[in-house]
Amino acid sequence: AHLDRIAALNPVLNAFLQVDTDGALATAADVDSRRAAGEDLPRLAGVPIAVKDIACTQGIPTTAGSKTLEGWIPPYDATIVTRLKDAGMPILGKTNMDEFAMGSSTEHSAFGPTRNPWDLDRIPGGSGGGSSAAVAAFLAPLAIGSDTGGSIRQPGAVTGTVGAKPTYGGVSRYGVIALASSLDQIGPCARTITDAALLHEVIGGHDPMDSTSIDAPVPHLVAAVESGKSRDLTGTRIGIVRELTGEGYQAGVQARFDESVELLRQAGAEIVEVSCPHFQYAMAAYYLILPSEASSNLARYDAMRYGLRVGPDGVDAPSAEQVMAASRDAGFGDEVKRRIILGTYALSSGYYDAYYGQAQKVRTLIARDFEAAFEQADVLISPTAPTTAFKIGDKMEDPMAMYLNDIATIPANLAGIPGLSLPSGVADEDGLPVGIQILAPATQDQRMYAVGAALE
Ligand code: GLN
Repeated sequence: AHLDRIAALNPVLNAFLQVDTDGALATAADVDSRRAAGEDLPRLAGVPIAVKDIACTQGIPTTAGSKTLEGWIPPYDATIVTRLKDAGMPILGKTNMDEFAMGSSTEHSAFGPTRNPWDLDRIPGGSGGGSSAAVAAFLAPLAIGSDTGGSIRQPGAVTGTVGAKPTYGGVSRYGVIALASSLDQIGPCARTITDAALLHEVIGGHDPMDSTSIDAPVPHLVAAVESGKSRDLTGTRIGIVRELTGEGYQAGVQARFDESVELLRQAGAEIVEVSCPHFQYAMAAYYLILPSEASSNLARYDAMRYGLRVGPDGVDAPSAEQVMAASRDAGFGDEVKRRIILGTYALSSGYYDAYYGQAQKVRTLIARDFEAAFEQADVLISPTAPTTAFKIGDKMEDPMAMYLNDIATIPANLAGIPGLSLPSGVADEDGLPVGIQILAPATQDQRMYAVGAALE
């Protein structure tokens, strides 16, 4: 049924870059026969899933939304893909994304934008717009996303779905194409919080192949959701982050957020206001740290080992450097080039301390702001994004306007803490979905699921 729906709607939505019909049907048939034989199967066996095209899938092309990797077929699976397969989940295909996950709208994909199922003229968020649009339009019940500065949560918010960024290190990144290694995290996209928790438990947990992976069992997220469903938050302290509300937030977004706060209060939660004064520097720090790490990670696309290789025009016997330069020029899009140049500059000798080093210090101050806030509250909340989905084309000429969409999601990545976006209705002025973000201290992912369940 999902493959039929993809066939019918993907030509319009462009949520999938690759559909693996044969592979998905084979897994489904295998699960059916094992079930018929009376085998005790994992909880999500037979439930199909879409995977963001940033995770390597053996035998299935993986592009990260870039022309640089067009046609490349990974020889191995990312750990998360292995876990999905071990769980008996048919993989429907690979979803569209901003090139190398740089963007907030999926318009920076080399393979055309994904459209928001709520309004086809609008963006589905980014960089994981393909995964969230697929889930929102019932092309897939579940999807995998990656979140470096909000790429699971913001697409969740603007498509009316659930998206969770686990604690940094909570889900393996082995075999996931790196954007900014100190920020990247893999997580679930779903339509309900229960579904998100179920998927999170499948993909989470220690992986010796990822040196940043936390060596501890996955938190009990499904149980946390169950406990939250009683809607009794007596004794739970919930902090509203002053710097992430009010000015700059669309009226309908703020109104839905205020309503959610009221619901939490009615459920017995104690609402407090917290201040995180260094969040005003989060965007600046992020746009030094991310380009720096990305410029280093993307150095591997040198046209020698894999990916696109072209020679410079009119040169008979080009040097390796000329081939690299021509290939990188032809393979990378504008946003990727912009960030590589920024990052290379920030890391260059003589500037390193002034830019990258300084940004790392600001990052520490932001982590301390969170620590102080979590002394006053068990979880923190804010709107997930300042606006509802904007029109395709609206922010493509203005990178700063695009970047500002992540103002509320970026601090969590800088601090490594988990965050969840949950639908909280639609804005009165445009009828488009609004998301509420719930943040918890590192390794306390179960808290955001419990509070989210009380609100769902
Ligand atoms: N939109 C943010 C950026 O462009 C976040 C991207 C992400 O989380 N991958 O950097």
